[in-house]
Amino acid sequence: MLLGEPARTRYDLNFNCCGFPVRVSPFFWVMGLLLGLSLADRKTAVVLLNHHGFGAATDLDQLPQNWAFILLWIVALFVSILIHELGHAIVLRKFGISSHIVLYQFGGLAVRDGSTYAAYGHTQQLNSKNQIMVSAAGPAAQLLLACLLFAVLRIGGFRVPYFETPFGIHLPVGSGLPISNALLCMFLFYLLVPSILWAIFNLAPVYPLDGGHISRELFLLLNPREGIRHSLILSIATAGGIAIYMFIHHNTLMAVMMGWLGYSSYQILQAYTGNRFGGPGRSS
Ligand SMILES: [Zn+2]
Repeated sequence: MLLGEPARTRYDLNFNCCGFPVRVSPFFWVMGLLLGLSLADRKTAVVLLNHHGFGAATDLDQLPQNWAFILLWIVALFVSILIHELGHAIVLRKFGISSHIVLYQFGGLAVRDGSTYAAYGHTQQLNSKNQIMVSAAGPAAQLLLACLLFAVLRIGGFRVPYFETPFGIHLPVGSGLPISNALLCMFLFYLLVPSILWAIFNLAPVYPLDGGHISRELFLLLNPREGIRHSLILSIATAGGIAIYMFIHHNTLMAVMMGWLGYSSYQILQAYTGNRFGGPGRSS
């Protein structure tokens, strides 16, 4: 898998957050826009607002224009992914490692400053236990944000603007008051979607997702000699399984992406069994 840090461009947005340099590639906004065009228009807003019986306008004619929803979606995605990467960066800082954050077309990266990597993403900078904490901190930060939103809304007596059953799991959206502003309601929904789904997706034991890094370290703890090979085999099997599942459920984009990740793991495995040293760079 070769998802390294993207090259700098003159259109990058640079700023500082919590003491970490953040760079946003223009392709991050393109990715957000493409996702927004298919996910965040007025028609899907009407479905959600009606589904939950919100007090907001649930008639197409009464809703703001499409661009307003797409803009809100991009802002929400930006906030959620930034929080994910801050999770990695903050735990890295706790272990004395400085890093910077990059948001790009595949999401985000917390890139360690001046690190050298050993075989296939395993770094000597941290022991396996600490590496697992760094990798888990990204999804954990997003899930914490989702829990906080749930808690604030429920304590305030509001119903949470979210579909109750992602992956068949019932979430406690409650039966309180509906949020009477359509844009605020949808913004909260757009913030919850990546915070829950992106976090769970990232925990799949597939390279180079966070779950892939976690499984690699767990396998290395169990078997330092064969750990990387075993984690790559699990990565291929999991990615292949998810790709088939997604294909059957007509989610072609996700099926292609997981198929590609599985194939990348296969290539890494071939190279690894071939020479057992060197490897591509990685990020958290
Ligand atoms: Zn991550």
